[in-house]
Amino acid sequence: LLKKYVSGFPQESDLEVVTNETILLKVPQESNAVLVKNLYLSCDPFLRVLMSDLAEPIYIEGFHLGNVIRGFGVSRVLESGHPDFKEGEYVWGITGWEEYSLITDTEKIFKIPFTDVPLSYYTGLLGMAGLTAYIGFNEMCSPKKGEYVFISAASGAVGQLVGQLGKLKGCYVVGTAGSDEKVELLKTKFGFDDAFNYKTEKSLGVAVNRSRELSRLIIIIIIIIITSFRCFPNGIDIYFDNVGGAMLDAALLNMRANGRISACGMISQYNLEEPEGVHFLVKMLTKRLTMKGFNVIDHFSVYPKFLEVVIPYIKNGEITYLEDKADGIENAPAALVGLFTGKNVGKQLVVLADE
Ligand code: NDP
Repeated sequence: LLKKYVSGFPQESDLEVVTNETILLKVPQESNAVLVKNLYLSCDPFLRVLMSDLAEPIYIEGFHLGNVIRGFGVSRVLESGHPDFKEGEYVWGITGWEEYSLITDTEKIFKIPFTDVPLSYYTGLLGMAGLTAYIGFNEMCSPKKGEYVFISAASGAVGQLVGQLGKLKGCYVVGTAGSDEKVELLKTKFGFDDAFNYKTEKSLGVAVNRSRELSRLIIIIIIIIITSFRCFPNGIDIYFDNVGGAMLDAALLNMRANGRISACGMISQYNLEEPEGVHFLVKMLTKRLTMKGFNVIDHFSVYPKFLEVVIPYIKNGEITYLEDKADGIENAPAALVGLFTGKNVGKQLVVLADE
């Protein structure tokens, strides 16, 4: 349950885990609701935005105090009043952060079409994050063989797939992440051509200081130096932005003429009382750049095509995926909060029950 509206960085104590003995374990008569057992919950940065006391809904309604929070998950149907869903089938989509849910807005759940891949992938690679990577990269940036691609928060749920899609298109792909372990994974597991730790780039002998302005300045300097001299001596064609802020500024300075920026997310800004702003937007015109923001919820019609593209790559081992699994609803608050300190290594999800 949401216990406290969040301002600033979310804390575990903003959420509360309770046991409710009076749970309704039947679909009401004449209703087309679906009763499910939730198996996996997806930890996604957008949930943080919905935990604020929103004066008005943004693209979806925010959470209310004392209510169960809701997000993407994978579930098994226990009972159904809806003709499209049968008992025993697996679904993914919007469900409650609870062990059992009675889902009434059935247009927000989808039958799982392929069960010969890990079902947990439908919280990430084959769910909302995967579709985000595909739309934001393949469809918005039209990548071409030989182009130079830069990805921030590259080892996360979205970033790890963007990098692999880039390699499959024949691009030169560089990612940045916040720990040496993640950097190693980018290069060894996901096939990135290069990667660096934006918090401590050892080759430059600098570490991000605690002061916000200094951190910002150092991040910009690190990325300018690395991207200009080591990774992208000729500049960046496509920047897939998951973080915004200083990283976006640094990328703007390194873009090539006619480059494309996919404005996917701005996680560095979500917890700030005052957003930092972007200083080098003038590069948009001097370099004739295109920057496009998008929200995956507008693109669910592309989902079948996305599966057609991605499923064969998963089955033949050309796309791999790393998940970070927390166990049990009692560990869900820590897992969600951990996204904002970079605790997750790969797609963060919560395992609630056996399949
Ligand atoms: P991740 O699984 O990558 O988790 C978030 C990661 O962001 C952390 O692990 C951390 O990695 C990094 N991070 C956290 N705080 C900061 C910070 N202040 N500066 C830089 N990096 C930070 O999340 P997702 O892959 O699910 O999401 C990535 C982005 O995509 C988010 O911004 C999200 O909001 C956005 N998104 C947008 C969608 C759309 O429709 N446009 C849909 C889905 C997601 P590290 O250790 O590397 O710092």
